[in-house]
Amino acid sequence: MKIYDIITKKKEGLALTEEEIFFTIDGYMKGEIADYQISALLMAICLKGMSREETLFLTSAMLNSGETVDLSAFSGLTVDKHSTGGVGDKTTLIIAPIVASLGCKVAKMSGRGLGFTGGTVDKLESLDGYDASLSSCDFLKQVEEIGVCVIGQSPNLAPADKKLYALRDVTATVDSIPLIASSIMSKKLASGSHSIVLDVKCGQGAFMKEPKDATTLAKAMIDIGNGFGKRVCALVTNMNVPLGYAVGNRTEVWEAVQVLRGKGEMRLTELCVGLATQMVSLALDIDKQEAEKRVNFAITSGMALEKMKEWIKRQGADIKYIECPELLLNAKHTKDYFARESGYIEKIQADMVGNASAELGAGRKQLGDGIDPTAGIIFHKSFGDFVSKGEKIATLYSGSNDFDSACAILTQAIRLSDTQPEAQKLIYEII
Ligand code: URA
Repeated sequence: MKIYDIITKKKEGLALTEEEIFFTIDGYMKGEIADYQISALLMAICLKGMSREETLFLTSAMLNSGETVDLSAFSGLTVDKHSTGGVGDKTTLIIAPIVASLGCKVAKMSGRGLGFTGGTVDKLESLDGYDASLSSCDFLKQVEEIGVCVIGQSPNLAPADKKLYALRDVTATVDSIPLIASSIMSKKLASGSHSIVLDVKCGQGAFMKEPKDATTLAKAMIDIGNGFGKRVCALVTNMNVPLGYAVGNRTEVWEAVQVLRGKGEMRLTELCVGLATQMVSLALDIDKQEAEKRVNFAITSGMALEKMKEWIKRQGADIKYIECPELLLNAKHTKDYFARESGYIEKIQADMVGNASAELGAGRKQLGDGIDPTAGIIFHKSFGDFVSKGEKIATLYSGSNDFDSACAILTQAIRLSDTQPEAQKLIYEII
């Protein structure tokens, strides 16, 4: 077999065989196939696409390039959630204790933030003492004993995806549905959960700008999961505006606690209940109505909040942050951002708000950069609200006293109008 012939075949729009795809990934991992040849193949895939079978073979080749986590000891109770990335998305912090308090097992590996999107591990590590690098033995023991453990993603899961993704990032080959679907699913499948709920974001703060493209991506990922015998469902959700009021790290933990106390922002609470309902329904094999009833009970009874304390404490952080979340809003400097005119808020552009928060120190430009856990933004108004000139729209938090560029970005991100904008759907579709 020759990589040259494989590239030519894909360039002509023909389907690759399982052997050809495994030969390619194996050769690339062994250093026998060069970056420039893989780049040519990736571009041919972007232009000509991949069939369902090819996408499954590619997922399988990447999945088998590294370690996999064995969660079979927990029978069918393990359930994972994946979001395709967004701004203000703290849903894992809220959903993990909800579903664990209802008997599901959450053995989750999460990522760090990059660019305008945040990462769950950064949010958790903003709690002093939280240990996101447990050994696999301690990870499984904690899942067994309290039903939830969230750690950083192991570099040994699907390493071929890591290598390919780095190449896609610099060769304009990220935006291909089969490549994105196989990349995400190879990592999710390697993490071993029996059921998977996907939150496929769509809008200004997401990869997919249009709901129809997000739906196509969701269906491709469901197809892959089902092909590997997993129970998978997907929600296609709005990411035009940030999710909830808070963006950052400690600021987002603060907001997660508000939701678990039953005092969360409406749309964030709705999405968390929606995702948790699907997770509980899949993992416990019960109908959606019953699952939703249990999820709401987990919040109103305080069971989920208690589970969050148990989880955070077990991983080394102090539960004072959960009992008294105001302690989390302790940045050295704060600045209020006021409306420059009166009007209805018709735009709070998610990606720009993510950039403003990163500018305050909450995000990183490159992997490996440090972050300021105290930095972030809390909005006091949301999309569609009326604000009067001089009214407070947001508070900015930072370890540094330089708020100028973050404020300038917010001025671009927020637009007011004389008329009330039409309400935007939060959940476009459940597949
Ligand atoms: N996230 C991933 O993990 N892979 C992609 O290809 C795109 C987003």
